[in-house]
Order: sequence, then structure tokens, then C-alpha cells
Amino acid sequence: MKSRRADAVFGFLHENTIVSAADELRWEALGVRATVLPVDIDTIIYDHLCQNQGLSFNDEADLGTASGEAVLGKMTVQPGRIEISRQLKIEGNEGRLRFTIAHEIGHWVLHRPLILADERQYSLLGSEKHQLVTLNRAINGLTSAPEEIQANMFASELLIPRKQLGEEWGRRNSLRPVATKSGSDLKLIAREAAIARMPGLPALTDVFAVSAEAMAIALLRRKLVAPPASLLEGF
Ligand SMILES: [Zn+2]
Repeated sequence: MKSRRADAVFGFLHENTIVSAADELRWEALGVRATVLPVDIDTIIYDHLCQNQGLSFNDEADLGTASGEAVLGKMTVQPGRIEISRQLKIEGNEGRLRFTIAHEIGHWVLHRPLILADERQYSLLGSEKHQLVTLNRAINGLTSAPEEIQANMFASELLIPRKQLGEEWGRRNSLRPVATKSGSDLKLIAREAAIARMPGLPALTDVFAVSAEAMAIALLRRKLVAPPASLLEGF
């Protein structure tokens, strides 16, 4: 559901702003280890955000459901807190857990300062509503809420840095985007590229410790898997 509050506060965050914010956080938190894969999300959370920005973090929260859907994560503005559903740990799917944590970090980095700065909005919301709640569909399905799209983009940039993805892609595909016939299923091709194992090289999903879905979306967004027309535009 698209709320008026979200449009008013979060509507105009540019993609470049989100890419830069993710890069900056990685370098600030990890220093020289910012380029080591997979990206060390625990150090970003515990050694940087908790230590330096007063974040309280709980990844074994019982978040229940909202609107009939599992709540995967929650970011509380004041006092600053991120909660992650313990359900994600039980599942044992590291990629989904990491992406959800990175998504909540996106709310923390991109949206918390906006809410805090917008004092009028802030006081209207009332203290119990200083929260962004992330439903299952925001991570794993379609969402049109700007703050959820932005948090997903942030998570993708944080866990799958462009430079490192370019290098890993180059090792596997000689830096060429995957050319496809028009009418072919790009999502399927991107998913296959995400999990493909080549001799001596682990799958991209293993290198970055993300799900096949998250990697496929990154490959499409960065046009490493692209339809023939957009490949031609690049020359
Ligand atoms: Zn969210």
C-alpha cells in the first residue's frame, strides 16, 4: 500500500544518491576490506552502525504478520533500532537473510535522516509510528512504495558492488553482456547466469552470498544481461 507519508518524504531520491550512499557506507565501515567478497555485513552492523551510530540490532525478533503477510524486518527511527525476523535464520537461506538486513540498513541510511529532519512529519506521526515495516512482498515480490524500492536498490548496491560485479562478470564472460534474441526471457537468462558454475569459478550467487533472484535483478539493472537493442545502444 502506497502511503501519502512515504510519497511526501521519500519520493525524490535519485538512483545516484542511493548508489553513492551504499558505496560510502561500505568504505566507512570496512575500510580496505570494502572490496572483499562477500561483503561483510556483520561488521557493517555491529562494528560500525551499532558502535558509531547508536543502532540497536536484533536478528532474532518475532515480528509476526501485517496485512496477512510475514513481516521480515522493521526499522524504528527513535530510538534507532533494526529488527529482523528470526524466521529468516530458521530457513537457513543466507542470501535472503543478508538481503533483508541490507534492506533495513537502506531504511536506516536513506530514510531515517529524512524522517528525523522533517520535524513536522515526525511530530505528526506520533512516537509509536516512527517505524518502517518491511513485508515479505517488499523483498520477494512486487512493491510500488518508493521507500521499499529505494531500500531494495540500496541493498543490491551494498551487497553487489558494481566494480566487483564487473570484475567477476569479466572473469566469466570476457566483460561482454549476454546477448539474447529478442523475445527471449531475460529474467530466466539472468537467473541462469547468476547460478552458473564455470570450471574453477564458483557461481556469482556464492561469490556475493546473495540469492539467485537478487543477483538476477542486479545483472538486469546493470545491463550485463540485456536485450539486443540495448546492447547495440552501447556501441
Ligand atoms: Zn522496507
